Amino acid sequence: MNTVLFTHPACDGHDPGTGHPDCPERLIAIRRVLEAEDFVYLDRQEGPAVTADQLHRAHPRDYVERVLRAAPRRGVETLGPDMAVSPGSVQAALHAAGAVCAAVDEVLGDRPGNAFCAVRPPGHHAEARRSRGFCLFNNIAVGALHARSAHGVRRIAVMDFDVHHGNGTQRLFWDDPGLFYASTHQSPLYPGTGLAQERGGAGNVLNAPLAPTAGSPEFRQVMQETVLPALDRFEPELLMISAGFDAHALDPLACLNLHEGDFAWVTAKLGDLAARHAGGRIVSVLEGGYNPQMLAACTAAHVRELMVAPVG
Ligand SMILES: [Zn+2]
Repeated sequence: MNTVLFTHPACDGHDPGTGHPDCPERLIAIRRVLEAEDFVYLDRQEGPAVTADQLHRAHPRDYVERVLRAAPRRGVETLGPDMAVSPGSVQAALHAAGAVCAAVDEVLGDRPGNAFCAVRPPGHHAEARRSRGFCLFNNIAVGALHARSAHGVRRIAVMDFDVHHGNGTQRLFWDDPGLFYASTHQSPLYPGTGLAQERGGAGNVLNAPLAPTAGSPEFRQVMQETVLPALDRFEPELLMISAGFDAHALDPLACLNLHEGDFAWVTAKLGDLAARHAGGRIVSVLEGGYNPQMLAACTAAHVRELMVAPVG
């Protein structure tokens, strides 16, 4: 499988302040680990800035303009709940969303393959008109809507295994039968959404909350018995992954007890699923993961599986 890594140095310019969990070191650690010999065949591309048209499919014009004006000349300012911005934050956000659109273009192009977007700020908490939880633009939703508009993809699924529920993605997908959102996450935990009874206006949402003590057995069981069968039934033409690695046992923001092997396992399962329905087309997008060393190890495990995923 041809696997492309999309990232951009501008994403390092988002610096929400000393001690903030979403620190520039996260991507620096990921890039460093992906320099290892295992990844010599990884295709590497820079993610361009997103276009206004691409952004407006998920976010109304007034919200986009508010974000574009939000970066301070110096220091850190607060844009909304849990959202601090620095002088480089807007450029980072533009390249994060743009990288996902470019990854969509790549995997839906002539050469079948998959892609991983090493970007920040993350996106899955961002709603159409509201930044939340370290997220400015909903990168994966912008990418999904780009796949539909620019490539005519009719059935797009997002699997979100970040430890937090992706309230923003769920809300943007809620009434749309062509978009499916599935999530495993710790509950109770921020942002408080993602209960099992939240099923989407078109029956197109699947939430599989995990108790704070859960680890590999509970995660793998719910994936095998509930989430993967639901994704199979949806038969996505494009599979997208909100790849947050903060369900790792050593992550400072949550309590789940997953390990690198669990992320490799779920990636292999999703690779098989994409081969069955989507010609192997996967766009995976970094969300959370706040222990940089563990984040890098989990990302390496994830990308290694993407590189050996079947074409379909
Ligand atoms: Zn998270």
